[in-house]
Amino acid sequence: MRLTVIGTGYLGATHAACMAELGHEVVGLDTDAGRLAALRAGRAPFHEPRLAELIARHTASGRLRFTASYEEAGAFGQVHFVCVGTPQRRDAEGADLAYVESAFEAIARHARKGALLVGKSTVPVGTAARLADAHRVEIAWNPEFLREGFAVADTLAPDRLVLGVRTARAERLLRRVYGTVLAAGTPLVVTDFATAELVKTAANSFLATKISFINAMAEVCEASGGDVRRLAEALGYDERIGRAFLRAGVGFGGGCLPKDIRAFAHRAAELGVDLGFLREVDAINMRRRDRVIALAREACGGSVLGARVAVLGAAFKPDSDDIRDSPALNVAARLDLDGADVTVYDPEAMDNARKAFPLLGYALSAEEALRGAELVLHLTEWPQFRELDPWRAAALVRRPRIVDGRGALDARRWRAAGWWFRALGSPAQP
Ligand code: NAD
Repeated sequence: MRLTVIGTGYLGATHAACMAELGHEVVGLDTDAGRLAALRAGRAPFHEPRLAELIARHTASGRLRFTASYEEAGAFGQVHFVCVGTPQRRDAEGADLAYVESAFEAIARHARKGALLVGKSTVPVGTAARLADAHRVEIAWNPEFLREGFAVADTLAPDRLVLGVRTARAERLLRRVYGTVLAAGTPLVVTDFATAELVKTAANSFLATKISFINAMAEVCEASGGDVRRLAEALGYDERIGRAFLRAGVGFGGGCLPKDIRAFAHRAAELGVDLGFLREVDAINMRRRDRVIALAREACGGSVLGARVAVLGAAFKPDSDDIRDSPALNVAARLDLDGADVTVYDPEAMDNARKAFPLLGYALSAEEALRGAELVLHLTEWPQFRELDPWRAAALVRRPRIVDGRGALDARRWRAAGWWFRALGSPAQP
């Protein structure tokens, strides 16, 4: 089929490349000239496993092209996927729908007769119906559940597909788009607009709640001498609870969970439903960043002023260069403001971090960041940090003190190598 993908960020670039991989002819559209230039040259504009390879292959074959022209996209596409951003509004907790509205408006104006416009962006419930009423084109909503770091795999083989449609024709078209994925046995939920929109915000709210639940348990462990890692292990054996997302740490960040739970609570309140618990989920999450800073102060004898602090990690999660609302950079920047001499290292997110926080120090490797450090903070769970050798690391630093903000390091080994070791929710002493 001939598809367009409007907005080629983390979601749209992945969707465009994967739709080409599935055999469709795809035109990606963006208004950002830098992003377009990279994509047209066959390069991925950000780090995501396997994405660069797919973009290079399909731009070379001509099956995947990029444009800034809505006229061209409109003339080309049978189905248009709208993947533009829905960030938090600057003046409120709700979502900023300006990009979605302008993208729908522009593509609706240029779309061919019979074309289907499919929203993939995460939006407040009610958006699809409003857009469908505002434009004389057919609309469907197909929320996206991909995880950064696994975006290509999640798009080619998703857990489920959710289609919010008003007509059998829209459903038929989308079943054709996803024919290969459905043939592989992917569960499909076909529903109305409101339910489709809600699946996405409900899923993100559930995940955020699970993370904040275990982080609240970490707070209780800190107050009572319990160990949240053993607690989580024991909870996880209960099939009704499950092990996933039960790792206590510095909490969630990124371009989705924080803004999505805020937007959801905000939208629910507009509808007269109180989802105040999501505000608590948000507050618990932000308190974990404060806790890392408190531990950093404790490690440095009450103040970080003048202390050389190595921050391992800048991306909000491993296997990504996305630094949006990154807990690691939030902590790094606040320690810098407190007078610490902060050096950050991340395997992929250095360029983005430098642009957003130009005044922080940066190292070219974990070893360089560790050299001379008086305190090490482990804040993004990259495998190479987990695999650091505590004995070799001890030889590099000035003072062997580490806070494991991801609950991923082996406390016994680090302590055996002579480190003052603290993890969130675990006792100071073994
Ligand atoms: P992003 O900021 O990386 O990408 C958005 C892109 O849209 C940018 O390249 C921007 O230039 C472009 N854009 C903005 N206005 C435009 C317009 N009028 N016409 C054409 N292009 C335009 O954002 P993202 O992370 O890809 O997220 C996009 C949406 O997908 C959001 O609603 C997000 O919540 C949702 N989502 C994201 C993920 C994820 O993991 N990143 C997962 C699922 C859903």
